[in-house]
Amino acid sequence: MSYGSPSGPTPRIMSHVRPEQAAERGVDAVLRRDDIVRHLTSEVIFTDDSLPGFSDTIEHPDGLVLVDTGMIDTTPALNEDGEEWHPHPLPDELVSRVAVVVNTHLHFDHCGGNRLFPGLPIHVQRRELADARTEDYTVREWVDFPGATYVEHDGEAEILPGVRLLPAPGHTAGHQIVVVESGYRPLVIDAIVVPGKTRTFAAR
Ligand SMILES: [Zn+2]
Repeated sequence: MSYGSPSGPTPRIMSHVRPEQAAERGVDAVLRRDDIVRHLTSEVIFTDDSLPGFSDTIEHPDGLVLVDTGMIDTTPALNEDGEEWHPHPLPDELVSRVAVVVNTHLHFDHCGGNRLFPGLPIHVQRRELADARTEDYTVREWVDFPGATYVEHDGEAEILPGVRLLPAPGHTAGHQIVVVESGYRPLVIDAIVVPGKTRTFAAR
């Protein structure tokens, strides 16, 4: 798996069935691989290394879904211990079209842009939100901001036709992945632990 490219790792799962074919199989909402787009939304530079962080958008018929919001700014406290965080905000064109937000988890490099979406539903596991409100877990103000509208889930949930949340505890106890129905094989948007590091970023 490659971590170095700003365009993200090469997808390992491809859809081979067109939506109309899937419809014949009785699958309601079907998205294509091309409907899921990866965006660089943060980068951290260490003494001798750097790591990109990613968000994903899903072009769903009911509106644009944003999976993780990356970073739009930073704080002096984050740039301690030899780490240098660089925000990479999403383009305004995308931000203005977001209808639904999902957080895989609430570490600051995955929820830093949540503040751009007051009033929009932000889907998260209940456990994750509770943990994010404890000490030293994340940047609290980036989670609880004016207008924050969290939709809390206890386990699996279908938030739009063909878009499901699936708990995947590990990196955090309340971590979740997003499964998108392609009509042939599910497409999975995930966040994984980088060996030897405590940070994560999205990977399919
Ligand atoms: Zn994390």
